Amino acid sequence: MNAMPPWLEADWQVHARRMRDGRVPHALLAAGPAGLGKRRLVDAIVASLLCIDRREDAHACGQCRGCAWRSAGTHPDLVRVAIAEDATQITVGQIRALGERLTLAPQPGGRQVAVVDPADEMNPNAANALLKTLEEPSPGSVLVLVADSPSRLLPTILSRCQRLTIRMPTREESLAWLAERGLDAALAADVLAVARGNPGEAERLAQPESAALARATLTEFVAVVEGRRSLVEVAAEWAKDRPDARLDWLAQATSLAAWPAGADLPGSLEPLAALTRGADFNTLAQWWTGLNRVRAQVRTPVRTDLLLAEQLAAARRAFGH
Ligand SMILES: [Zn+2]
Repeated sequence: MNAMPPWLEADWQVHARRMRDGRVPHALLAAGPAGLGKRRLVDAIVASLLCIDRREDAHACGQCRGCAWRSAGTHPDLVRVAIAEDATQITVGQIRALGERLTLAPQPGGRQVAVVDPADEMNPNAANALLKTLEEPSPGSVLVLVADSPSRLLPTILSRCQRLTIRMPTREESLAWLAERGLDAALAADVLAVARGNPGEAERLAQPESAALARATLTEFVAVVEGRRSLVEVAAEWAKDRPDARLDWLAQATSLAAWPAGADLPGSLEPLAALTRGADFNTLAQWWTGLNRVRAQVRTPVRTDLLLAEQLAAARRAFGH
């Protein structure tokens, strides 16, 4: 709980100073790409807000009644609003209930804390209801919004929140963090390049299961483009086995292979880079845009095998084979 990744330390220090000065904002926004640890930062802040015996550095003590309730998931002053299992967005009913809940008195000497995650997945009515709650904050309550895509939040909501900066780590910080987590240096450098410097994303890509899927996807993709494998067959296989993860990886890998942007190209991507060398820039860019459209579509119930086959056929044309 205590060791914050170095790139979140500045955000933590801002929070610690506010706690010391007794000037905690009514609303905080933790926004930025997934994989940088913003939920970890939010968890530490929430723990700190609910602890009744905080340490000197503002971190939660881990032992008081507040900490015990929080770890058990039974803290009476902590509300978490998330997407319900049978829904795709946070609803207005949930946000209204939250507003009412925040008007209740907290435990003596404590405060009400609410976490809305993902705040960028609210329907318009829910967003408007949240705005009302933000306009009339209950004294002593703290609302924490978490969003991967803050551009999808209403500007009026954004302007009422104190924003945590969640900066992107340097390459050295990310490599050190990945090494601490037991990743081999060469693998860490490879996955960090594919993840465009995002350490959490790199760690995810390095999981043995993801790495094996990535290798297989690359081999099959190159074979299809070079005409050594049937695209219909490969599309059918991909459709049955984690098509979304394959396309996510393919999008990241081809973008890096075609437009390296100064990063060292991992050796494992060389076959892909070789394909892009003879390709026309505009056609390739168009194909890549199409790939991203298909990424969104494979999450909906459509004929995934047909979409994949179309995309692979387009790849043969785009890569000039
Ligand atoms: Zn405590």
